[in-house]
Amino acid sequence: MSANIHKINHIGIAVKNLEAQVEFYRDVLGLHFEEIEDLPEQHLKVAVFLAGDIRIELIKSTSPDSAISKFVDKTGGGMHHIAFGVDNIQNTLDNLSDEGVQLIDPRPRKGAGGHRIAFLHPRSTYRVLMELCED
Ligand code: ZN
Repeated sequence: MSANIHKINHIGIAVKNLEAQVEFYRDVLGLHFEEIEDLPEQHLKVAVFLAGDIRIELIKSTSPDSAISKFVDKTGGGMHHIAFGVDNIQNTLDNLSDEGVQLIDPRPRKGAGGHRIAFLHPRSTYRVLMELCED
């Protein structure tokens, strides 16, 4: 049985300079700017934009040791992950695990906006980092 995923919740973009990129997305692209969320537990600041009902999240790490910081150091920043919206994240994780998909988070954890999230391992997704996000 497939995981039956049918929508995108957000696209995560890792950034080096949050202010400069907020200006670009807001003032040049003209996307609707929602807010900047502080996630001190995860050492992240996330600027949230809306493109229709899909969120674009610009993710800035506030800790040099985080996965996001390492990604930005290595690549200069850019497309980081795609997040699918699901109704029941634990069911979806269990389905994917049954299908042999490796999970970074076998149990959901708290992400931006207080949503329950979990990441799939890129080894199992043809090298695209995928997140599940419970609506
Ligand atoms: Zn995300």
